[in-house]
Amino acid sequence: MTDLADLKQRAIARIDSLRDELIQLSATIHANPEVAFQEFKSSARLCDALAAHGFCVERGVGGLETAFRAQVQGNAAGATIAILAEYDALPDIGHACGHNLIATASLGAALGVRAVIGELPGCLVVIGTPAEEGGGGKIILLEHGVFDGVDATMIVHPSCWTMVDGHSLASTRLKVEFVGKAAHAAVSPEGGINALEAVILTFNNVNALRLHLRSDVRVHGIITDGGTAANVIPDYAAAVFSVRASAKEAAEQVLQRVIHCAEAAGLATGAQLNHTIKPGYAEMIPNKIMARTFADNWRALGVEVHTFRPLDGMASTDMGNVSHAIPSVHPYIAIVRDGTPSHTVEFREAAISPAGHAGLINSAKAMAMTTIDLLCDPKLMEKVKKEFAQAREGREQATLPT
Ligand SMILES: [Zn+2]
Ligand SMILES: [Zn+2]
Repeated sequence: MTDLADLKQRAIARIDSLRDELIQLSATIHANPEVAFQEFKSSARLCDALAAHGFCVERGVGGLETAFRAQVQGNAAGATIAILAEYDALPDIGHACGHNLIATASLGAALGVRAVIGELPGCLVVIGTPAEEGGGGKIILLEHGVFDGVDATMIVHPSCWTMVDGHSLASTRLKVEFVGKAAHAAVSPEGGINALEAVILTFNNVNALRLHLRSDVRVHGIITDGGTAANVIPDYAAAVFSVRASAKEAAEQVLQRVIHCAEAAGLATGAQLNHTIKPGYAEMIPNKIMARTFADNWRALGVEVHTFRPLDGMASTDMGNVSHAIPSVHPYIAIVRDGTPSHTVEFREAAISPAGHAGLINSAKAMAMTTIDLLCDPKLMEKVKKEFAQAREGREQATLPT
């Protein structure tokens, strides 16, 4: 029987041998940012690399042109482990979330496991998941069955902390639109219905509500339409809000109260309200067994792993939805100093810095090692599944009507 440590060492050696190639590809993706659902070149580059290394690649899966599923089979039946890749950039600012590092770390991990897959049971899958930044690509892929048959998934995100059990907030999006009546703002204001005032009142109502929200709740918005000329009473105005909380159910409850804020604004001004809700991201539920295995592998590589603090800033990700369906981990790796947020120019520069490259390689190695652990040890996989089932049961109990 092949030694587990030896398999891991050979996967690590393979990743080390590919270091320059991975960093080069990361830099190319970084220099050519593509926003949600438009990641044509990034997706093609990753697919080409996987195909060149013997993966069976299916491009354009789940009805998304820039999604892909690449697979390589082990030497016997066993678990199916999926390493996920994100590669979308943000509008205007580019790769300020460092998804170029995510994509190439996942590629590196897959190529590391590829070097020893002939000695392992089971199956390794790489799923290319577009549009994490607001488009919810993983939700679409889940709905289209692209994750069917997968036993566990993982992905690593760059951050200012290294931790394996980071949570994320559940989020929902709300668009409010008000239709009023245009009138000359000086000649006949009494003839108008001011849609912009309805939007402003909505914000003021939300701010009053905010005083009484739990500390994990976030409500933030922008005005997308606010009229066209100062001397015309706006007959149309609109805003978009993001409502987040530590659990999906709580986010949905707060969302209803934000809608009430808009309804009250409509009543006060006489403007007619239309609202649309965009299904949001679920909160991330990290599988604890997988997280522990991942942390052990990082520590074996000499990477310091930070313990999750509930006060650490949390964003939202469609990986949360995956974690509700399949045992998953979404570790974070530090590439910037503590306190530097993502979606900033500093973070974008870090995504092509030596610290970013170290994060890429260490993430690739730990994902490869964790995949090898899961494929080689059916008992570990059983524990992962058991914990997932218990966590799901606990959630269902907690949400039963009382
Ligand atoms: Zn982001
Ligand atoms: Zn991100």
